[in-house]
Amino acid sequence: MLVEIANSRALSVRPDLLATPAEAVALLRTLALLPEGGTPTEADLDEIREFRSVLNRLLAGGEDTEVRTTLNTLARRVALNADFTSEEATLTAAPGTDRPLARLVIHLFRTVSDNTWPRVRLCANEECAAAFYDTTRSRTQRWHSYTDCGNKSNVAAHRARARAAKTG
Ligand SMILES: [Zn+2]
Repeated sequence: MLVEIANSRALSVRPDLLATPAEAVALLRTLALLPEGGTPTEADLDEIREFRSVLNRLLAGGEDTEVRTTLNTLARRVALNADFTSEEATLTAAPGTDRPLARLVIHLFRTVSDNTWPRVRLCANEECAAAFYDTTRSRTQRWHSYTDCGNKSNVAAHRARARAAKTG
């Protein structure tokens, strides 16, 4: 879920997938972020985009307290008392919120507490920077797709090495 949300941002090849409720509804339903048959409001989308920008900052290595404090603030807005800043992360949910943002915060919280968060990474190809879920046992996957980005990087590295060898 986090991967799909992170990658929904505008890319050079396509616009933001969460730009309008009509455009966002399919993705949000697929990710079970909406109640059965529900549609997102503009306010829901604002919140999801805000969460997405914090998520992308976290993935880009922004493991600083400010990003985590922002997450806590987002959580409180949907009646979740989260603490992403401490080592012993905690989450207390007040009943009655079913907003997409609440579902996202709870999901992120679970990802952090069951230690799958380090598997959510950004592609090492800087031009791509797509989020992906690293399923390798060794947690060493570098590219979102070896075919699309790994080969390209290897070819570029090979050429650079060849150039360096030639110039000595
Ligand atoms: Zn990539």
